[in-house]
Amino acid sequence: MRFFTSVHLILLAYIVVALAFWELRLQEQSGHIYAQEVITLKSQVDSTRFPYEYHQHMVALKTNLDKRTIQYVAEGSTFLIVIIIGAVIVYGSFRRSIVLSRQQNNFMLSVTHELKSPIAAIKLNLQTLEKHKLDESKKMQLVDRSVKEANRLNDLCNNILFASQIDSRQYKATRELFSLSEMAEDTVAEYAARYPQRFEEDISTGCYVSGDKVMLQIMLSNLLENAIKYTPADKPVTIALRKDGYTATLRVVDLGAGIPDGEKKKIFNKFYRVGNEESRKAKGTGLGLYLVHKVVKQHKGQIVVKDNEPSGAIFEITLPLEAAKA
Ligand code: ADP
Repeated sequence: MRFFTSVHLILLAYIVVALAFWELRLQEQSGHIYAQEVITLKSQVDSTRFPYEYHQHMVALKTNLDKRTIQYVAEGSTFLIVIIIGAVIVYGSFRRSIVLSRQQNNFMLSVTHELKSPIAAIKLNLQTLEKHKLDESKKMQLVDRSVKEANRLNDLCNNILFASQIDSRQYKATRELFSLSEMAEDTVAEYAARYPQRFEEDISTGCYVSGDKVMLQIMLSNLLENAIKYTPADKPVTIALRKDGYTATLRVVDLGAGIPDGEKKKIFNKFYRVGNEESRKAKGTGLGLYLVHKVVKQHKGQIVVKDNEPSGAIFEITLPLEAAKA
């Protein structure tokens, strides 16, 4: 990156200096042409005998000189502006591609780890069940852990597949009328089974939306998964769904560390994760909120992140309600 910046700046400086040099040379040549034209005029028109005619010619020569000067300056400046705009665009897109490729690298590292660790855990649990005579409660504990790992693997695969389909525009969103209230209740029930005693819910009935069920399910799962992941195990996560006029407002509220103001917009970027590889404790790929944002936009909704009190994050999503059912 630094190498590119230096080369880019040196090239830009060279182009600017070369342009200024050619500008000066052209002005100089124009001056010579003018001087030559004056000499020719003097040899052709006698200024003492025909002062008026001589003056008229001199004015024409001076006008030509001025026109050339304006033309060179205008062309030079336009050229310079085009070069500077081009350089800024090239630099911007190079920077963006560097940032994306760094994030993709981080993504590859974390996704490899994320895929391997549940597989390793499930394998170990199965081998333990196979080799040892365990009592019923111990068996159930291992099965339970394996199911959790398999669920994690399933969510991860869904996110990866969905992101690639969305990015390549292969995913065709459907539209059907359904109860968001029921979907939210079912999702909370499923997560409550996975993470007992972690959820509190306040879901109003009868919130009907028209949209893509698969997409909205992925949105809900990612928000709940994050709330659990970034909140200490002894603190609850609250899911609320309300009808507000013509919109449904979904709030996922946690008591974790929250999200700093400077990060609140960035977290929706693809592969973006707060902090660096060393300081991060939670596993992840940086795809979840990118997808959540895409789903909300697809459904013409809004998403905002707020601070919870005394700590934590509130993800607030508003979606238009189906007019007939609002
Ligand atoms: P990840 O796979 O890293 O969880 P996400 O796209 O879901 O990816 O989230 C992006 C980042 O936003 C996360 O790495 C995390 O730093 C931050 N984040 C998301 N949800 C929460 C939350 N509820 N509390 C605190 N930080 C969060």
